[in-house]
Amino acid sequence: MTCEELLKALNEYVDGTLDLTQADCERFAAHLSGCNPCQIVVDNIRGTIQLFRAGVPFPLPAEFQSRLQGALRERWREKFGASA
Ligand SMILES: [Zn+2]
Repeated sequence: MTCEELLKALNEYVDGTLDLTQADCERFAAHLSGCNPCQIVVDNIRGTIQLFRAGVPFPLPAEFQSRLQGALRERWREKFGASA
């Protein structure tokens, strides 16, 4: 999986046109384990989610980010667990 593929898949997932399987998530995790830029992207998303859940105000003007946050929040918990 390339960075482009990962980001495209994330985007499609958020759009509801792609349903992530366990295998997809494993490919994501495998890519993330060796790709710092993508780790940063995902960490930012997760950080945003954590802030959101904690009720801390934060700037989130982009509709994409808002949708991503909502969609990933639950799935992330399902697929990767609530730790880290
Ligand atoms: Zn990458």
